[in-house]
Amino acid sequence: MITLENLSKSFRSTSGSIVALDDVTLDVPAGVIAGVVGPSGAGKSTLARVLSLRERPDSGVFRLDGLNTGTLDERTTRIARSRIGVVPAGGSLLGQRTAAGNVALPLEQAGMDGPQRRERVGKVLDLIGLTNHAATYPDDLTAGQRQRVAVGRALVGEPAVVLADDPTAGLDDDGAAGVLAVLDRARAELGATVLVATQDTSVVRRIADDVAVLEHGRLLESGRLLELVQDPDSLVAQAVLPAIDPATRSDYPGVADVVLVGFAAIGSLLPEAASRFGTDISVIGGGVTRIGETPVARFRLGLAGDRTDSALGWLAERGGSVRHLARGPRGSVSDRAA
Ligand code: ADP
Ligand code: MG
Repeated sequence: MITLENLSKSFRSTSGSIVALDDVTLDVPAGVIAGVVGPSGAGKSTLARVLSLRERPDSGVFRLDGLNTGTLDERTTRIARSRIGVVPAGGSLLGQRTAAGNVALPLEQAGMDGPQRRERVGKVLDLIGLTNHAATYPDDLTAGQRQRVAVGRALVGEPAVVLADDPTAGLDDDGAAGVLAVLDRARAELGATVLVATQDTSVVRRIADDVAVLEHGRLLESGRLLELVQDPDSLVAQAVLPAIDPATRSDYPGVADVVLVGFAAIGSLLPEAASRFGTDISVIGGGVTRIGETPVARFRLGLAGDRTDSALGWLAERGGSVRHLARGPRGSVSDRAA
């Protein structure tokens, strides 16, 4: 469990002081994959460095399982650091070492050798899907495989927390998917808490349980992703849900947007609402995506019938997030909260 309380950090520059983290308060429960998103310069890497205990905040508290890391001496800081695996931005493997040799490095530095080390490295190579490339040098691996080795090196000490700074940067789709699958396995098989800093909201959509949005060092939004997508004002929801073409025209007397979470809701709620209330409900925009394993739909609906409000109310009672839209001239639609 990671707890951040009012964390702030500034850097001095020639043009004055740069606030990289501004009063950030955030909880990341154990065993969760949390995405930290935001544009370049938002403070993501600074947050990752503070959490890796490489950098101290100016003020505020970072607790690891309740332990205030700011109060530790050098020796206990080293122990706390060993519980945190870091996948640095840009990877940086040693070119003269094999994949296995790179994964083994932290264990060598910690003085572990012999069969115990071989067993750990073997287990991690299996987890990152590179058992057959144990003896391959970085130059002969793909960029995605190299990044999986960097993740393996962060995992080999069996850390409680894994920090990955921009782990899919520069990778193609397959490479990125492979790295994210490894981070997901790290959580599932090692029980690690994983923090992924990224600019790419599709990374969040694919693996995050929780999400935190940073901008100019400030936390704009945080929470469970599947809850935030139900909030019409959520920034994350706008970024991860299927887009609705703003030019969508409708000849229906009523228009509404709904967000539906889960296979059952998406498959059955609209037809059931239509038949219960004698309402004509048509999908005129939006679509279905996946958040992790869960299908999530955002639809723009065209509605006709006497009881459309009751039908929408019924949908909302069943967990659909519903937003009424006003119809403008010539069938254009504009936002109006229900
Ligand atoms: P992100 O990873 O989201 O792109 P960073 O944490 O790298 O953001 O940077 C946040 C802000 O802090 C930026 O304005 C950046 O220029 C500044 N910054 C980060 N590290 C340093 C540093 N070591 N010295 C000076 N400024 C820094
Ligand atoms: Mg960064």
